[in-house]
Amino acid sequence: MQSDILIIGAGMSGLTAARTLAEAGRNVTLLEASSRVGGRIHTLREANETIELGAEFIHGRPPELWSLIEEANLETYELDGSMLTYEDGRLQSRDEEEESTPILDKLESLPGPDLTFAEYLTHHPIPEDQKQAAIGYVEGFNAADHRIISTHALGLQQAAEEAIEGDRLFRVKDGYDRLPQFLAQKFTDAGGTLALNTLVERIDWTPNHVRIQAQTNGRPITHDAAKAVITLPLGVLQQNSVAFSPTPDALHEANRIRMGNARRFTLVFREPFWKHLPPAGLRELSFLLSFSSMPPVWWTPHPASSNTLTGWVGGPRSEALANLTPSQLSEAACKTLAQIFSLNPADIRVQLLSCHTHDWQHDPFSLGAYSYIAAGALDACSKMTLPAGNTLYFAGEHTDTTGHWGTVHAAIRSGQRAAQQILQQST
Ligand SMILES: Cc1cc2nc3c(=O)[nH]c(=O)nc-3n(C[C@H](O)[C@H](O)[C@H](O)COP(=O)(O)OP(=O)(O)OC[C@H]3O[C@@H](n4cnc5c(N)ncnc54)[C@H](O)[C@@H]3O)c2cc1C
Repeated sequence: MQSDILIIGAGMSGLTAARTLAEAGRNVTLLEASSRVGGRIHTLREANETIELGAEFIHGRPPELWSLIEEANLETYELDGSMLTYEDGRLQSRDEEEESTPILDKLESLPGPDLTFAEYLTHHPIPEDQKQAAIGYVEGFNAADHRIISTHALGLQQAAEEAIEGDRLFRVKDGYDRLPQFLAQKFTDAGGTLALNTLVERIDWTPNHVRIQAQTNGRPITHDAAKAVITLPLGVLQQNSVAFSPTPDALHEANRIRMGNARRFTLVFREPFWKHLPPAGLRELSFLLSFSSMPPVWWTPHPASSNTLTGWVGGPRSEALANLTPSQLSEAACKTLAQIFSLNPADIRVQLLSCHTHDWQHDPFSLGAYSYIAAGALDACSKMTLPAGNTLYFAGEHTDTTGHWGTVHAAIRSGQRAAQQILQQST
């Protein structure tokens, strides 16, 4: 099979690059291992609920994501409910700003060598409760280990988030997967070829020639092109499950970045029983934080009407739930919720209809949740954006250079960047 450009991976980065290049008149083939587009965007619809198994939130107002949402004519809503904490056996309202962000704000212009967040906390003693809240926030949000993550990267992220009102959260009403589906449609409308069920196994390249060996529905197939955009997730690159010959420098850089883990699951109930419990804030619950529980974070899609509670744990603590089946997760969750709501686990179990989760850590096409930057590795992402021999271009959320790693808008941005690199190179 012969094309001008091959794109590997039909997540948001690959779809963005593919659409841009196809609309610029290039002959583009997009190779995707799974039977669907979207990658780490994966929406399930059940019992009138729209359940996100991967990305769920639009973080703030990133322009590239909002212009796509508008172009696709998708309805969104902003999460605007209450935030509660469960501490010392008590549920109470929480001021969002109160604990973790003042510490993170200080990282924005941190001079000196890059430290891990753990090292930073050792050098800048703060009250123990604030310290634990900050660690919980950093690990939960970044799916990261606080003993590894870079303070310089956290500072860059904090500034990047402020610039896009990152503390505001939105959802796509009809499901996040409408976005990759829209991009895939635009790509094929522009004449692009989308090859699903196509597992890339080997990439051989010389300047201006790439040969890719893959299996489509189990049958071996070879694709040739002048250039390739590689949007394989960081975990897949690090596991060497796709062989490169010769090894591009970008792969060495990929090994300096970290793939974080997280576990999320959504419980569907007969009715939103928590709305009838004290305190009154539960009636309009958005987020519930309970740092000593497992999982430590819960949320609802309020103000959307829904009978769901989603549990989240990121970073090393996610190991505790890593190998649990949905029924084991439900059982653990019922016990935690019973404690938080001062009910019997049986009262919760009787309300529970189903539990939905996806194991991103063991999914061979992601091998983790999303990337974060280790102390001392902030330059690795920008080095990954340098094309190998003007032939291989790496994209994906982990190649972001603007402080937005691990997000949908970072993936879109990276796909746009790779496409522009190719277009500028060939003009
Ligand atoms: C649980 C979870 C929650 C998240 N929550 C949010 C959120 O609320 N907001 C947010 O902005 N972001 C969130 N993210 C992150 C966001 O989903 C990702 O940053 C983004 O979707 C990554 O896009 P990508 O194109 O870089 O990679 P991917 O979407 O992973 O795309 C890569 C593609 O490559 C394919 N592939 C892998 N191996 C091969 C192979 N050998 N051959 C061919 N194809 C292959 C994969 O199947 C996949 O389709 C979350 C992620 C997870 C896992």
